[in-house]
Amino acid sequence: MVTPYDRRTAEIVEEVRHLGRTYMRPMGLESDATGLPPPADHPLYLICARQGGLVGREVGEDEGDEGLDWRPFRSLLINEESAYWDRGVALSLPGPGLGGAALRTTATAEQRARFLSVFTDHDRAHWGAMAMTEPGAGSDVARIQTRARHDGGEWVLNGSKMFCSNGARADWVVVWATLDPALGRDGHRAFLVERDTPGFELLRIEHKMGSRGYETASFALDEVRVPEENLLGGEAFYRSREGFRGAMATFNLTRPIHAAQGVGMGRAAHDFALEFVHTDYPSEGRRRTRALEQLATIRRQLQTARLMCLHAVWLASRGLPNTLEASYAKLYAPPAVLRSVSVALDILGEAGVRNDKMVEKLFRDVKILDIGEGTQQVQRVVVARQLFGFPRDP
Ligand SMILES: Cc1cc2nc3c(=O)[nH]c(=O)nc-3n(C[C@H](O)[C@H](O)[C@H](O)COP(=O)(O)OP(=O)(O)OC[C@H]3O[C@@H](n4cnc5c(N)ncnc54)[C@H](O)[C@@H]3O)c2cc1C
Repeated sequence: MVTPYDRRTAEIVEEVRHLGRTYMRPMGLESDATGLPPPADHPLYLICARQGGLVGREVGEDEGDEGLDWRPFRSLLINEESAYWDRGVALSLPGPGLGGAALRTTATAEQRARFLSVFTDHDRAHWGAMAMTEPGAGSDVARIQTRARHDGGEWVLNGSKMFCSNGARADWVVVWATLDPALGRDGHRAFLVERDTPGFELLRIEHKMGSRGYETASFALDEVRVPEENLLGGEAFYRSREGFRGAMATFNLTRPIHAAQGVGMGRAAHDFALEFVHTDYPSEGRRRTRALEQLATIRRQLQTARLMCLHAVWLASRGLPNTLEASYAKLYAPPAVLRSVSVALDILGEAGVRNDKMVEKLFRDVKILDIGEGTQQVQRVVVARQLFGFPRDP
């Protein structure tokens, strides 16, 4: 039989399955009931800290047994499988998170080594985060108003940020700010702000309709002083619009991952519905046949979504442009996942809407897929620009 992955990748996915079943699904249900993310000293987070990730450091170190570099695919498949068990908890796992993607696209090698060194502490869990979104700037990140000014060999930040994933428990947050909003994208700069920096104040943690396993925080920045060397990439990086490109490149890396998490959630809904069909209509009949036909369609759509994610990641892993393919994946997956959850609800009937059933939770969890990392409408704009050269807004 031909396996779609190399042997080590298959083992890694199996390990994630075990941790998902043992920890992540129960943690997600608990968070959904309480509205709070798991505590920062949860045993699963300590396991991750000890072994350097959900399934250990080897994900980033070796090559597959067929001479192919499986690392980017492993990362995608780990995200898919962990979201199968609970996407909220998957997003809450320790590590640099979105901040890590920002470091990859903007920071110097020295900065990456310096800021990522905190994750070599295996005694307790650590988090990083990224804050781009502001009350007046979500989809249109060019509108950010958080100001950065240079003063006495330091940078001083003022403004506010919202919807920052894992922001409240993060050791550091990559904060995007502007030298002057009139400069548009050319004024953007990314700074690494360490927790407990005076003036960097947590305002609140949002109460979300779903995906409650991770926290989403709002901050105020009031005269926050950041050392000069925390300007990611250094000033030279921002000439010729590299700063804004850096921000966008971050999303080209993370959009396929985000979409792959959706595939995991869609698979979860599919599996609940399939189990229900087998137990509640075990013998042939119109109802069973119709349900299985619907689930076959869902499987095809989820497989299409997964292939789109893999393609986008494959391009990125070879340093090839993937803006279009990343947006294709992000555009296609969330509606496919929503259909999967809706079909599962239809099949379960009234049992599906009871909140002791996972499918009801998945229905609430899934909406964020449409919003985070570029909404459906924004992906359409990106695709139209890429395909037909639609102009940018002035
Ligand atoms: C749970 C959660 C976690 C998040 N985590 C992070 C994080 O860690 N870091 C971070 O920086 N941000 C984060 N975000 C913010 C997220 O990226 C934004 O919510 C998203 O970019 C949308 O911005 P907005 O909510 O301001 O909506 P808006 O941009 O105000 O959009 C509102 C509506 O208008 C539509 N729209 C906007 N512009 C256009 C256009 N040009 N053409 C057509 N339609 C358009 C949108 O599609 C949407 O339907 C998070 C959000 C959530 C909900």
